[in-house]
Amino acid sequence: MTASSRVKLKPGDTIGILGGGQLGRMLAMAAARLGLKCQVFSPEPDAPAFDVVLNGVCAEYADVERLEMFAADVDVVTYEFENVPAATAMVLAAHKPVLPAYKILETTQDRLIEKDFVAGLGIGTADYADVSSPETLRAAIKRIGLPAVIKTRRFGYDGKGQAIIREGDDFDRIWSELGTKSAILEAFVPFEREISVVAARSADGDVECYDVTENEHRDHILKISRAPADIPEALADQARAIAEKIAVALDYVGVLAVEMFVVANGKGPQVLVNEIAPRVHNSGHWTLDGASISQFEQHIRAIAGWPLGKPLRHGRVTMTNLIGDDILDYERWLTVPGATVHLYGKGAPRPGRKMGHVTQVTPDRPKKG
Ligand code: AMP
Repeated sequence: MTASSRVKLKPGDTIGILGGGQLGRMLAMAAARLGLKCQVFSPEPDAPAFDVVLNGVCAEYADVERLEMFAADVDVVTYEFENVPAATAMVLAAHKPVLPAYKILETTQDRLIEKDFVAGLGIGTADYADVSSPETLRAAIKRIGLPAVIKTRRFGYDGKGQAIIREGDDFDRIWSELGTKSAILEAFVPFEREISVVAARSADGDVECYDVTENEHRDHILKISRAPADIPEALADQARAIAEKIAVALDYVGVLAVEMFVVANGKGPQVLVNEIAPRVHNSGHWTLDGASISQFEQHIRAIAGWPLGKPLRHGRVTMTNLIGDDILDYERWLTVPGATVHLYGKGAPRPGRKMGHVTQVTPDRPKKG
């Protein structure tokens, strides 16, 4: 079988999930509700997703023998993180369909390739330049101006592998501290707000986008998501159309999230794409309690070859991440009227570690009259 062959799972079939974090855990829980089994593959012995599946494989991503045994036991493979090593995906794809297809990760694992791809679709991004040395950094700063943001092309997340460069900074020092030879420089976007669109695409090519979500970060980590975003309907339509265009152009099967900036421009607000996450996304966690079908279920449906659902939002939704020591407050959250608490079963809280989240839904008042 090849990765491109059509998958049509039946209840009772098994999905293999690469990665055992909270996203893998919530995917496995959604699969269970649909009568599907999951196996999780993770090198972390205490991966939170192991707690919710019967079979967890604790091995390195380079362990070909264990990968082959894992592939033999499942009907389709998916993943909960984007930095899946190419060799791992190739071993798995030789045995079972891998969805979304690995070639998509080659686009999204590299910020330069990703930006070129998005810009090539005619979608707006921050002005950017390829940077590979102190000299090319200077040239890029000259063209793009300051302030600007330098980001490693690969393996950046939650603000890691990036720095803001301002007038008067020591460019050589910033470059050497970044510790890479491949980076991009982006113009600093003076955004009004950050939004994201979580979209699902089925194997048949149907696309369903959730309502646009507004995201608040603290220390580069998502803290609060609100749905729907407080933006004009036309802008929300534009954001959803962008996510759909990206999903179609990637021939994507599964759930993806597109992170965007809303910027003011003379003719009114406009959206610029910041990043594509080829997986379920933290800014879509509100859909677990705030919509009739969660992003996790949509992803499972898509990779199972099943029809997507048409998710209805239950009201105005706020999702608050419990990060690090926030988790110590879980008993208080348990008593907040209307709050739904999700704890990921992780060990010790560390600064920046996502330990759980809380959803609060305020039903929309029925329209009078
Ligand atoms: P990223 O790792 O690209 O998702 O960036 C993490 C966060 O840094 C974003 O959510 C923004 O808050 C901020 N950021 C990233 N790129 C830019 C930019 N070009 N201009 C302004 N803020 C940015």
